Amino acid sequence: MVAPNPQPLGGNSMPRFGGIASFMRLPGTTPVGDLDVAVVGVPFDLGTSNRPGARFGPRGIRAESVLLRPYNMATRAAPFDSLVIDDVGDVATNPYNLLDSVARIEDHYRGLLSNDLVTVSMGGDHTIVLPILRAMAAEHGPVGLVHVDAHTDINDDMFGEKIAHGTPFRRAVEEGLLDPARVVQIGVRGTGYAADDFDWSRQQGFRVVQVEECWHRSLVPLMDEVRTQLGDGPVYLSFDVDGLDPAFAPGTGTPEIGGLTTIQGMEIIRGCRGLDLVGADLVEVAPAYDTTGNTSLLAANLLYEMLCVVPGVVTRA
Ligand code: MN
Ligand code: MN
Repeated sequence: MVAPNPQPLGGNSMPRFGGIASFMRLPGTTPVGDLDVAVVGVPFDLGTSNRPGARFGPRGIRAESVLLRPYNMATRAAPFDSLVIDDVGDVATNPYNLLDSVARIEDHYRGLLSNDLVTVSMGGDHTIVLPILRAMAAEHGPVGLVHVDAHTDINDDMFGEKIAHGTPFRRAVEEGLLDPARVVQIGVRGTGYAADDFDWSRQQGFRVVQVEECWHRSLVPLMDEVRTQLGDGPVYLSFDVDGLDPAFAPGTGTPEIGGLTTIQGMEIIRGCRGLDLVGADLVEVAPAYDTTGNTSLLAANLLYEMLCVVPGVVTRA
């Protein structure tokens, strides 16, 4: 008899406001070597350019995730029946040193990935995707990317610094971590410095979907095209919560109006089913700017939707 997979603690076993505050009230005790999926927190915000506070993202997301139940009523995915999934806690970032934190994050993910698992990460500001992609590429080679964001995050530098939350995808291309023809950036918008601000991405071969192409419509057809573009190779999903409109996700550091809806965000993630997803993240949640907790609640639900599209998750009628 094989031991059952770890399961979220149900609301009839312990009230939802009780128990240890792991993601979805998972036990948090599974040996890493037994895992198919590791849920990881990266409490880090030294790379933010405006409002700080994403260091509290993992804690906020875990707190709001208590309301989540294990079965997806829409897609019928049953991730906890299918796979061994647990919360493995946080990376010990260095709150006094950005570059040391980036090194620590990469080391931590290299260790996790050596166990042949998928990581689903709670940020943290978007700087964290660079060390995560370094570890991903070391394990899988250059990866495809689904990047949801108000911003392309391809600046050459910020205030003269090469590593910050607005530069990770420029560094990732330079370092050969991405397969540029298999990259899509969705939801980018807002004010810029020059008309060609998004063109560097396009010159690399990325598909850039500005938010105006998404307004007033379902993103199911877009994701059909994205799955064709990204094909069979390994894919990483990086979801900056500011890709959604600040009406839905005000708790973030660099909000931009006219963003994606919650429903469109769900369509993007559900549309990743069938891709060879090797990792995913939800970044830039800064709970202090949202007195309702709604941004963290949204993030927790989107992370759950990511768990539902990991390869190997089966549906249950
Ligand atoms: Mn970003
Ligand atoms: Mn952003």
